[in-house]
Amino acid sequence: DLSQTLNYATNELTKTIEMRKDIIANVSHDLKTPLTVIRSYAEMIRDISGDNRDKRLEHIDIIINESDKLTKFVNDLLDISKLEGSLENVHLAPVDLKVLTEDVLHRMNDDHGITIEAMAHPVILADKRRMEQVIYNFITNAVKYTGADKKIRIVIASHGENHIEYACIDNGEGIDAKNRDAVWDRFYRIRDNQTRPRVGTGLGLHIVKSILELHGFEYGVDSELGKGSKFYFIAEAFKLN
Ligand code: ADP
Repeated sequence: DLSQTLNYATNELTKTIEMRKDIIANVSHDLKTPLTVIRSYAEMIRDISGDNRDKRLEHIDIIINESDKLTKFVNDLLDISKLEGSLENVHLAPVDLKVLTEDVLHRMNDDHGITIEAMAHPVILADKRRMEQVIYNFITNAVKYTGADKKIRIVIASHGENHIEYACIDNGEGIDAKNRDAVWDRFYRIRDNQTRPRVGTGLGLHIVKSILELHGFEYGVDSELGKGSKFYFIAEAFKLN
């Protein structure tokens, strides 16, 4: 009845407002941290007495590094707002997942010895630029959260009769069961493990999720703490004829 409907609407609205507050708090924090660093290093450069060139360059490098982080963060935010709920920017075309992965590795200047095991003709119908982002985020995470004896494999194999599974498999620190669903959430980072690098925004996998859902692809993560993770998506194979 009406009062139930109203109640429901009010609850949904309250949830949305709370979510918005959370987002603003998160964004502000992630913007403020590098800004604080930039400001204090700028002050330190100003106050360097004499001609201490090395110290100055060292500080400038930190400023450049923090500025790059800010740029990446703002780009991620823009991507998210573009992706959310809009199909209009998706341009579908046949995409060869092996070629795309090779492009990504090339662009990353990969020196991690990442291997690709691919079936013949691993082609799907997708937005190439967006899928590149998915693959890039999977691989950079695998690199980031995998230890010294890195082993990262990309496996592209047929799945059932008409589908292809794309998997990025690492032997890194893995993800425990209680965090496994949340890693796809906006801003979510696992903070309870001191060994995890602190760099990151928690936006990468949220972007991946939005892109894969926009395409209607199945996706997920299989992982065991301390053993490694497999991030994957499954898409329909694109067949000529
Ligand atoms: P970020 O890497 O910026 O923190 P992501 O959204 O890409 O954000 O990832 C969310 C969290 O999921 C990370 O903080 C990390 O703890 C965890 N994670 C992602 N990929 C992996 C992986 N390959 N192995 C272990 N943990 C991972």
